[in-house]
Amino acid sequence: MAYDVVLFHGVGHPLSLQSRPLPQPGEGEVLVRVLASGICDTDARFVRLGIPWMREPLVLGHQIAGMVEKVGSGVTSLKKGDHVIIHFVIGCGRCLFCQRGEENLCPEWKGVGAHVDGGFAQYVLVPEKNAIPISDTLSPEEASLIPCGLGTPYRALVQAGVRAGEVVLIQRAWVWGLAAVSLCHLMGARAVVLDDDAERLRYAREHKAEAALDPRSEDVREALAPWAPFGADVLLDFTGDPEWIARGLTWLRRGGRAVIVGRAGCAGELKLDIPTLMFTEASIRGAWLTRQAEVRQLAAWVEEGRLTLSPLLGHRIRLEEINEGIALLDHPDTLGVVIVP
Ligand SMILES: [Zn+2]
Ligand SMILES: [Zn+2]
Repeated sequence: MAYDVVLFHGVGHPLSLQSRPLPQPGEGEVLVRVLASGICDTDARFVRLGIPWMREPLVLGHQIAGMVEKVGSGVTSLKKGDHVIIHFVIGCGRCLFCQRGEENLCPEWKGVGAHVDGGFAQYVLVPEKNAIPISDTLSPEEASLIPCGLGTPYRALVQAGVRAGEVVLIQRAWVWGLAAVSLCHLMGARAVVLDDDAERLRYAREHKAEAALDPRSEDVREALAPWAPFGADVLLDFTGDPEWIARGLTWLRRGGRAVIVGRAGCAGELKLDIPTLMFTEASIRGAWLTRQAEVRQLAAWVEEGRLTLSPLLGHRIRLEEINEGIALLDHPDTLGVVIVP
């Protein structure tokens, strides 16, 4: 039996649709029929910029919801027909980090759709532990947003240690930033969004951010004053831009925490004034990908109706329209683009 995949052949080349023989799940693996596969900002950046570790050809796509088609020997937790989402970080399972549930820090981690074939295909093969069961009442399109669309910002909120009542400054209101607003509400925190795109600021207001500001023309300190007269408790940066990060840090209160979220292809250096850092006791952390336990927690919240994902969906496309789908992400106000069969 053959199935369709979309292959990445290197930077500057369009992705190409091909047919190839369906793989069989090996020991401890499951073959999943893809029911929805989101295109992430990361995928668009992989295609535009490339990533040193990527082999070619490769099937991209790491936001996957599907149904188990076949299980390999030794698989006990899943059976054919189960609905699943794919946790896209595959840890080695043996190292210090994997043993502690920190597989995103595993030195040998492999990303579904980054190192091994991902979800821009009709089927995907993953280790049993990476297929997380979800209710079949959830729409696959919405469920596909859980692993990265929610998982990446949730990791950042966990890294920041956000508590109820705190004011969280969120830089860039794309899917991650908007999901961060919803997660702040769930945690009882107040979200203030900064962006330089009017349409994305409108999305932030629709997501009921306390305020949505363009930092080039509006006074952020003044806007924060009613709830955070000393500055924001937390800064979450989704831009990866050194200028945005440095400016964002100036709006943090003493003892505040900043989290810089990993975004594919980001580079540059951050210049820090050592006395300022000392006297303010600010902390700056990174956030990288997401963890299995976090994806399971998010799936439970979505199933309980505590998080709504439909406002994050922008476009539905078919697998053969993948290049057009990636081009949609060139528009600053495009929300989630999902491939459906
Ligand atoms: Zn992603
Ligand atoms: Zn490991």
